[in-house]
Amino acid sequence: NRQRFEGKTAIVTGAGSGIGKAAAIKLAQEGANVALFDLINERTSKTEAEINAIREGAARAFDVDTSDAARVEKAVLETAELFGSVDVVFANAGINGVLAPIEEMQLEDWQQTLSVNLNGTFLTVKYAIPHLKKNGGSVIITSSINGNRTFSNFGMSAYSTSKAGQVAFAKMAALELAKFKIRVNVICPGAISTNIDQSTEKTEELKEIVIPVKFPEGSQPLADGPGQPEDVADLVAFLASDESKHITGAQIIIDGAESLL
Ligand code: NAD
Repeated sequence: NRQRFEGKTAIVTGAGSGIGKAAAIKLAQEGANVALFDLINERTSKTEAEINAIREGAARAFDVDTSDAARVEKAVLETAELFGSVDVVFANAGINGVLAPIEEMQLEDWQQTLSVNLNGTFLTVKYAIPHLKKNGGSVIITSSINGNRTFSNFGMSAYSTSKAGQVAFAKMAALELAKFKIRVNVICPGAISTNIDQSTEKTEELKEIVIPVKFPEGSQPLADGPGQPEDVADLVAFLASDESKHITGAQIIIDGAESLL
């Protein structure tokens, strides 16, 4: 009874919380060794301990700001040395960042959101490629339904731009890397119950505007509230596995029909 990810190594960015944490747990439960790339904090250490309680040695946390090229490069190398390969990359770390009307948006705030969400994705994929090339592999990128649509007036121009950029990047990468049997897919979650609000800063003006930080009932036709990180983890595991071996360059919405409203 072989597990789906036995002998495989997965890098998961933003693994200390929310979607990344659920995916790291799921991949480890099914046999993978997981490198947890996140800012080292209590949550990340707790995730590492939780996974090592499932299988000792299955997880190692790396203190990585994914927008820092040198840190990403080094941590990817250390992962390959520790676990022997890199087979799956879940480029998931992201922030909401500063929400502000465009007119009020400071360049530094705009750049911070793009730097984590977009540069971070690029750097994670870039430095993993030499390792993925060896045996082929699977890359999954977390965008958002906001990569494809607009929220009116929520001050999310930087966030949505970064999320749309991830979709374009995923498709380009899928084409470019197909010859190495590296698949690249991008997932677009709707509202998921995580800690993402802690990475949200609102300008005074926007605090007055209703931002759906608490998702209203019925905001997803399929469920009473937001989706759960485990729902997304199931999709990530499918895309990481050979069951999706002919799927690449796909953009998959996982939102309980939220974006159809
Ligand atoms: P979360 O805040 O619970 O988890 C995100 C993790 O990323 C945290 O552990 C955080 O420390 C880490 N992180 C932030 N900046 C980082 C950096 N520079 N380097 C390394 N790690 C960093 O949020 P989540 O909802 O699980 O978010 C995961 C992804 O899902 C994000 O890309 C987000 O945009 C996307 N997403 C979330 C939702 C939602 O409703 N929660 C919807 C659509 C898309």
